[in-house]
Amino acid sequence: MAYVISDDCIACGTCIDECPVGAISEGDKYSINPDMCTECGTCADVCPSEAIHQG
Ligand code: SF4
Repeated sequence: MAYVISDDCIACGTCIDECPVGAISEGDKYSINPDMCTECGTCADVCPSEAIHQG
């Protein structure tokens, strides 16, 4: 299952530069394209709000 970003996202932008495949998009809340996500977990590790979890 791809990783997903929850409502705990504060749109800080930390994760977007860390995703090796560019699957994360900006917005009021950031989002992950499930078709691109390789489930590496990098974004979940760097999120300061712990808003990213495997879906
Ligand atoms: Fe990108 Fe990895 Fe996070 Fe998927 S789990 S969105 S590939 S950083």
